[in-house]
Order: sequence, then C-alpha cells, then structure tokens
Amino acid sequence: MRRKLIAGNWKMHGSLADIGTFVDGWGDASKVDADWLVCGPFPYLPELIKRLVPLGIAVGAQDCSAQASGAYTGEVSAQMLADIGVSHVILGHSERRAYHQESDALVLAKVKQALAFGLTPVVCVGETLVQREAGETDAVVVAQLEAIIHALTDAELQQLIFAYEPVWAIGTGLTATPEQAQAVHARLRASLAERSEALAVEMRILYGGSVKAENSAALFAMPDIDGGLVGGASLTAQDFLAIGHSME
Ligand code: PEP
Repeated sequence: MRRKLIAGNWKMHGSLADIGTFVDGWGDASKVDADWLVCGPFPYLPELIKRLVPLGIAVGAQDCSAQASGAYTGEVSAQMLADIGVSHVILGHSERRAYHQESDALVLAKVKQALAFGLTPVVCVGETLVQREAGETDAVVVAQLEAIIHALTDAELQQLIFAYEPVWAIGTGLTATPEQAQAVHARLRASLAERSEALAVEMRILYGGSVKAENSAALFAMPDIDGGLVGGASLTAQDFLAIGHSME
C-alpha cells in the first residue's frame, strides 16, 4: 500500500530565521497518515536536518550534480548531500528544465548519481500550457518518464518517487482539477506497469502545482495521487501542516 507523501519545495526562499519560525509553528502532525519532506536551499540543509528531522520531517535538496566529484565549480554532488544526512533530492523540476536547459539525459545522469549515494530522487515531469492545449500532455509526460525508467534497473526504480507537475499550475494559483491530475497519474502508472506491474503498484506519484489546504483533500483522494509536491504552501508550518490535516 502506498503511503502518502507531503513534500515541500522551498525553492530559493527562506532564511535561518524562517527555519526557526517554521519549527516554532509546527504543530501536532501525529494524526496525519503521511510522510513529510522539506526540500530546502543548499546552505540551509544542515540547519533543516538539525531542526526538522526530530519533528519527523525528512530533508531533501532541490538538485544535485550529474558528476561524482571534481573540477565543477558551483556544483554540489549527491555524495556531499548524503554525507550531511540529506535523504531526498528533487530532480528535473520544470524550473531547472526551463532556466538551466536540463534535458532528460541530464536529469537521468543526476538520478543515477543520487541513487549511487542512497538518495531518493523525486523526479518531476509535466507539460506546458501550450503542450496541454495541443493535446500533447500524455506524450510529453510519458516521454519524460520513460527517459528515466528505461535506463534503470527494477531495483533502482524501486527507490524513485515521481511528481507530476503541470508547468502551467506551478506558482500560478491554477491547479489541475482532481480529475485532470488523476488522468495523467493513471497514464504514468500505466507506463510503469508496462515495465513492471509490481513497480507500478508500489511507485509513489505526487501531484504538484498550487497545492494548498483548500484543494489537497480532493486531489489526494484520487486513486493514483500519492501526495503532493508543494511550493508556496510549504513555506509556513501552518499552511504546510494544514495540507496534512485536510486529509483527516
Ligand atoms: C513546486 O515548486 O514544485 C510547486 C508545485 O510550486 P507551487 O505549489 O507554488 O505551485
């Protein structure tokens, strides 16, 4: 049975003071039947690990290098992340695909690095508005998914989490309806099933795109939606926790 995951993506937001405020504002999550994850900016990861892991919130990064080590100025390796206690890493977020020209091949190389050092990759796929309006949603997301799964073993795939994030819904206030999101999640799971039925049943597929407490219960009630990747509404403890409580 897949357990829900509520994952926050802080993007390039936050400060040491904000982490303190988040921790002070975190309430009782004991009744929320879900795993929690916050993916923070690199400089704050040690502080996030120190302060959030004791609250039952895993800590992830938002990217890692496709290289193992060496003369790659500005890069952060998967090994370094694992070394400091990071457990997850978002890879292939649409903002990295758009602003840093990340191709499927580069995302795959990063996934392999993450897996080599025991990190759980949260691999993002999603279509733009132009692609959706052209009827290309399924083709786009399936191609992004297959570029990853074809190059990995079943054992490696068992370590992955996918996130369906329609680009037009990220940070825009527009959300896919539960039915729209479910249709894409079901399509992704069907692709996984072509590879392995067992894998498809076990794989967590998150939905991301303007998730908040007002829409999360309906989204997470869909049979193939296993939680959320949450940007804006993960920045305060109150908003983030409210997403969990919406499932009660
Ligand atoms: C995201 O950062 O992946 C995201 C979905 O952002 P938001 O929830 O703000 O749309």
